[in-house]
Amino acid sequence: MTHSEQGGIEHIMAAQARVPIPEDFAQQANVSEQQYREWYRESVESPETFWDARAKDFHWFKPYEQVLDWQPPFARWFVGGKTNLSYNALDRHVAAGRGGKRALVWEGEGGEVREYTYAQLLEEVGRTAATLTRLGVKQGDRVTIYLPMIPEATFSMLACARIGAPHSVVFGGFAAGAIADRMAASGSEFVITADGGWRKGELVPLKSVVDQAAQLAEAQSQPVRGVLVVQHTGQDVAMQPGRDHWWHEARTEETQEAAAVGSEHPLFLLYTSGSTGKPKGILHTTGGYMVNAALTTHAVFDLKDSDLFWCTADVGWITGHSYSTYGPLLLGQSIFIYEGAHNHPDWGRFWDMIERHRITVLYTAPTAIRSFMRHGDETPAKYDLSSLRLLGSVGEPINPQAWHWYHRVIGGGRCPVVDTWWQTETGAIMLTTLPGVHAAEPGTAGVPLFGIDPAILNRQGEELPADEGGFLTIRQPWPSMLRTVYGDDERFQRSYYGEIEGVYFAGDGARRSADGYITVLGRVDDVLNVSGHRLSTAEVESALVAHPQVAEAAVVGKPDEMKGESIFAFVLPQEGETPDAAELRAYVSGQLGKVARPDHIVVAPALPKTRSGKIMRRFLRQIAAGKTIEGDTSTLDDPGVLERLAKTPVQ
Ligand code: ATP
Ligand code: MG
Repeated sequence: MTHSEQGGIEHIMAAQARVPIPEDFAQQANVSEQQYREWYRESVESPETFWDARAKDFHWFKPYEQVLDWQPPFARWFVGGKTNLSYNALDRHVAAGRGGKRALVWEGEGGEVREYTYAQLLEEVGRTAATLTRLGVKQGDRVTIYLPMIPEATFSMLACARIGAPHSVVFGGFAAGAIADRMAASGSEFVITADGGWRKGELVPLKSVVDQAAQLAEAQSQPVRGVLVVQHTGQDVAMQPGRDHWWHEARTEETQEAAAVGSEHPLFLLYTSGSTGKPKGILHTTGGYMVNAALTTHAVFDLKDSDLFWCTADVGWITGHSYSTYGPLLLGQSIFIYEGAHNHPDWGRFWDMIERHRITVLYTAPTAIRSFMRHGDETPAKYDLSSLRLLGSVGEPINPQAWHWYHRVIGGGRCPVVDTWWQTETGAIMLTTLPGVHAAEPGTAGVPLFGIDPAILNRQGEELPADEGGFLTIRQPWPSMLRTVYGDDERFQRSYYGEIEGVYFAGDGARRSADGYITVLGRVDDVLNVSGHRLSTAEVESALVAHPQVAEAAVVGKPDEMKGESIFAFVLPQEGETPDAAELRAYVSGQLGKVARPDHIVVAPALPKTRSGKIMRRFLRQIAAGKTIEGDTSTLDDPGVLERLAKTPVQ
């Protein structure tokens, strides 16, 4: 990573008016204003006392002796303790007489629905763990999971946790090479997959992709000992005797108890989504991750027994780990998952499921929100969304325009919207507004959660004054932080603690208001340097998205002899619209000033995104500069977009 010498990023966008929390929401919220204030203070002033109290809610087979051992940058939490995350997410609730409570509701793209109570989920996970053990999986073995969003994905993750075999989930849309690289890098000999999955009414092959991946892995000297295959679509697949086993045939009758593993036992490794470069294998361990995944779910999503929580993230991403799976189950609450496209059979699919299942809390990404917005208000208006009481956003900065649409059209103006900033590396949400405590500021993530001690610094490590943009860093360790980059402590140290002395920094820029609200400005590597002004891409993009004819925008710098950089904007229009470049320039100038006016505009047919839906600016910079595309394109959703963009005229 190369960052400019300065830390400062100019703040060009006017702060949005804050949207107050609804009084009736605050009345019933899991976390009150006073509790936030008291707990937050304690969590940063006496973190060990604070986290000790939170960890007491969980079952420890052996109590820990020390809350935190901090040898920067290496942290160990709940040292000496033995626990198990699957035990805490399942057995603990069943033992407390809550086995009849609904744990998981799944809907397939074709409309099939399956439901599991906590007792049933425990049985499924116990049997899956016993099956994996019979296939030879032992504590410490890395298990690759390449599955669609089906209940077996949940069973598999929890079964791995039950054995103490760290899982490595690979997003079901990735190709064989990506699986093979991740298997080789993690030394994983076992794979759980399915024959295939469903996407827009079409069959997606999975097992045949794993067969190719196994060959590629073996070519990298990574043996593949066992492949467990869920029969999901019924499509024809080849089974290699001795190596491949059908889930339904291999499945044992007996269940397996949860192993007592050390608090620092690896729980999973997961690769980042790759929007800035080659994905990194992030390692998370058991005790600290467990405590903070649960606490953040409780505080941010306000879950209660009457809720059905839908986090739309695929298990291939960290959000799918912490909030589609572990966090809510640790709290004993009910989750909804869906396999399929968000626009199948039409753009009403999400709203139809919310209506039918009476989903109460929805957590999704700006990319999805903007795509729904692009298709108009009429579709969601056809559905009864009155069950919703809270909305969340994650993955990218949410443009104020999209925020307001989400709040008004989906939330009926009644639901708080939480914009949650965090990363694969942080394990859990770091910054947001708590729905019963803080007024939301559209486009601004919010305040730090318990135990999170952020600082906006310049390159020299000096704290910047209010409203000045700089590096978003975290000073103190927190329980769900990554422990290392898998197998590469040196890279961990260099990537996260090497840039600015003594603090965690993972690439994002931000500014903090005088009253403590933090606005994420985008990646510092993406910051524009125009005639000596350092401008945030997120702010210029938000100004463009505010134009009624613009659905999405991606802004990058193009090297310019006079100005240093000129502003290059890729603009995706609202459906059926053709925005005029001159008008867009005037519009941005009017909002942000002349300095932010885009010099070049491409009205784009589509934007390049990661598989997780994030805009990939690094390729757009190359297109803007008229260069040929270089770098790892394997995490791109649709590599063909780049070619089409390069051919689109610049205005
Ligand atoms: P890589 O590290 O490989 O480039 P990535 O950073 O996209 O990939 P993730 O860990 O999935 O991989 O994403 C974390 C990043 O997503 C954050 O660093 C931030 O840039 C962005 N992000 C997530 N949530 C928000 C949010 N609420 N507001 C602004 N940015 C967000
Ligand atoms: Mg990252």
